[in-house]
Amino acid sequence: MDKPEYLKKQEKEQKEYEARCKRCGACCGMKDNDPCLNLRKDGGGKYYCDVYENRIGMHKTVSGKEFACVPIRDLYPNLPFKGCAYYK
Ligand code: SF4
Ligand code: SF4
Repeated sequence: MDKPEYLKKQEKEQKEYEARCKRCGACCGMKDNDPCLNLRKDGGGKYYCDVYENRIGMHKTVSGKEFACVPIRDLYPNLPFKGCAYYK
């Protein structure tokens, strides 16, 4: 059975929203010199999360600090990452 139109629209909008990310790694600690242990860099110099589908929850940084990974939306309206594609 075909997916209802609203579900298709929702998926399309979610993909467009995620595609806006510049993959700079700032929200994963890259600019603090203590990034999340799950942060990886691809051959093109862009960052990605190794556990993206299961990222929400507690994780550790390279130095061992515990922190909660939250959806970027939850940080509105005060995104602390200047230059972030979602920063307003
Ligand atoms: S778990 Fe969260 S903070 Fe860690 S790399 Fe993935 S998205 Fe970034
Ligand atoms: S700071 Fe913004 S643009 Fe950079 S990786 Fe995080 S969500 Fe994407």
